[in-house]
Amino acid sequence: MTGKLAARRQELMDDINRHAELVIFGTLSESYRTCGRANCRCHNGGSKHGPHFQISYRGDEGKTSGYYVPKAAQEAIRRGVNAWEKMQALLRQLATLNKEEILDQARDKEHQPVPSTTVADRGRRRPRPATLSADRA
Ligand SMILES: [Zn+2]
Repeated sequence: MTGKLAARRQELMDDINRHAELVIFGTLSESYRTCGRANCRCHNGGSKHGPHFQISYRGDEGKTSGYYVPKAAQEAIRRGVNAWEKMQALLRQLATLNKEEILDQARDKEHQPVPSTTVADRGRRRPRPATLSADRA
């Protein structure tokens, strides 16, 4: 791996680490609601109550699940959801670097100069070692 690529890779992993600390999984939705008091503004043309934050997500068994987010947690949860999105993008970049590195190494191996002794041996045809099944046949 070249120094430049290694540096870029380290940078990505540091960035991923920072986001990993914050991640929250799920989709955040906001809603505004009416309350139970009939004489409240929300029932008389005034603004509704909210925003109420709700997280929904698909659980391990594919079931959609969710929870209400209390007001005091809204900022942190929003930051966590954003961190998740950002981390996905960073992971994709890291995956691309990993792929390129592996493919580069494979290409280098294929194009490595063959040691001279092997080159000399090349013209000679060696009998293929008999396999057990061939012996028996
Ligand atoms: Zn109300």
